[in-house]
Amino acid sequence: MDPLRQDLLNQLAAIGVVLPKGTKMPNDALEKRLNQALDASQTFTEIITSVPFNPTGLNTWSSSTHSESLIQAVQRGNLIEAMRNAASQQMASGQSLVKHPKAEDTFMEVRQCMLQFAKHWEDGISIFVLQDEAQESGIIIRIIETYVVKDECPVFVVIYKKIKKSSDSTLRKVVGSIFTAQIAAGNMSTTPLERDMLAKLLLLNSKRLSSDHNPERRKNEDSFRLSFLLPLGPISMQDLGKLTNTSGCAVCGDTHKALRRCADCQSISYCSQECQRGDWKQHKASCRSLKGGHWRSFPFRLTSMPGMYQFIMNRFDSPERMDAKTITGSPDDADPPPNIHGDKVFIVKLQVAVNTGSGIPQNVFIYDRQKSFQVYLMADDDANAFRDAASAIQTTGWKGLKMYRWAKRTGDFELSVCFDRAPEKDPQW
Ligand SMILES: [Zn+2]
Ligand SMILES: [Zn+2]
Repeated sequence: MDPLRQDLLNQLAAIGVVLPKGTKMPNDALEKRLNQALDASQTFTEIITSVPFNPTGLNTWSSSTHSESLIQAVQRGNLIEAMRNAASQQMASGQSLVKHPKAEDTFMEVRQCMLQFAKHWEDGISIFVLQDEAQESGIIIRIIETYVVKDECPVFVVIYKKIKKSSDSTLRKVVGSIFTAQIAAGNMSTTPLERDMLAKLLLLNSKRLSSDHNPERRKNEDSFRLSFLLPLGPISMQDLGKLTNTSGCAVCGDTHKALRRCADCQSISYCSQECQRGDWKQHKASCRSLKGGHWRSFPFRLTSMPGMYQFIMNRFDSPERMDAKTITGSPDDADPPPNIHGDKVFIVKLQVAVNTGSGIPQNVFIYDRQKSFQVYLMADDDANAFRDAASAIQTTGWKGLKMYRWAKRTGDFELSVCFDRAPEKDPQW
């Protein structure tokens, strides 16, 4: 695969947007999606309400007027947990904690860079050199000013320049020639993929900066580009749903040609024999385990208790996203859960409520691995579907309490599950 394409797919995956293996989506569409993912991460449209953005006249960030530190303000979502999680995965896979840069950590590392900017800016350091391990190439960033935008959100206005590896000079010399005075600079070791993601973000934002905003440049900074950076957080399940959705052919995403479902399992659609053949290695396992199975559609609810509303917080979600409507909304006018699976099949875990003496109506609790939704099949809503689900759990499930099954989303509040076919192997979650 061409390296540019692999980089785009890796960067998307690092943010959580995992596209089908072998996707034929063209590079420019992948690039567009990456920009959308970066915007979702910086919640751009929520924070910058009008474009072009002109920071002139905004208040500057001052630690004396804010109850939280700049680092706290920049840290969105649960970065510490995300990092611990990555560290424990490394431990589990037998790797040492010595830093081995991995593509899937790219987004986390870029968010980490933002925390470093915040920390050092408060210590009086404004120049940062994001370099490779050999210190040959990198990005130089100077924070010009930190302003406050909507809802006490900090924004760094920066100028930056990409430095390519050159045979007749070192990165240190280039940096030295730009900043002639003795200036403290923060050096950060980064991977090419991390710098590329940051450069994409800087370029994306630079195009939205008002040309009326012209902060003073220092000597030798003429070739630098002006941009700004906002705090980055994990992207919400709602955004993930939009960004992973590839309606149309399961392989290439084509929506123009007529689609044909796999005749054996009815669970997946392709535009052509070519796409179907190319996907067979991927699809084989689920196809065989689903062949001849019976799909049953049923309505689901977001809560098992009438009048009680539950909201789901994924451990990657930011608490800042929980607005008043989410928490106080009644179950009747609640928004449907996001659909991150499109029309693809996916595995759900089903658990039957055993305690019926507590007044909790009979139900089956259902969720997916990402916990993008957690819903209930109520006996009162669909007695037949409930009976089939409960009896499959009791006869084939783990201790008669839970089981995994293939599912597909068939409506806002409707799911279809193949109760009589189990996945080849139970997943571990
Ligand atoms: Zn196709
Ligand atoms: Zn099939």
